[in-house]
Amino acid sequence: MSEEKDIIKLESCPFCGDDQSSFGGMSEDAFASGSEGSLSVNCNCGALGPSGSTMTNAVAAWNTRTAASEITRLRGEAEALEVEISALVESAREAQQLYVQADNEAERLRGEVERLTALASREGWVMVQKVPTPAMLEQTAFNLCDEYGVAFVRPLGKFVQDAYAELLSSAPPPKDSAG
Ligand SMILES: [Zn+2]
Repeated sequence: MSEEKDIIKLESCPFCGDDQSSFGGMSEDAFASGSEGSLSVNCNCGALGPSGSTMTNAVAAWNTRTAASEITRLRGEAEALEVEISALVESAREAQQLYVQADNEAERLRGEVERLTALASREGWVMVQKVPTPAMLEQTAFNLCDEYGVAFVRPLGKFVQDAYAELLSSAPPPKDSAG
């Protein structure tokens, strides 16, 4: 009974992909005869299966060949997938490295912000601009002129700017340890 089933189930052609439904009747037309009465499954595309002494054997041989080619195809697919997996693993590894780097950098910057915040909030200290703005210069120059009762002169801005720089450079340097 299983023999009969094997005959009916003819695997598709590994060359043209024909599902062999045209051989549904499994007549002898589906076979090519060889020497001494051997038979081979003969696809319309011309593909010839291995020969067998009976139709059953010929079909079994044909199906075995198909199975072998299917295994080869699957092996190829598996190899391609392995390459793809390797690439993905590599990408994941690189992403992980970038993440760790970014995390370390963020940690370092958080520490720096904390350090600067601590410095800036120390008693007697405020954060000021390194270079005074034009408005700061003008206001100070104006105050100086007002203080000494002279007409406001714009070139005083340069004097104030230099004085401001002098003041900053003569300030004691901040220390990391809170004092
Ligand atoms: Zn074929």
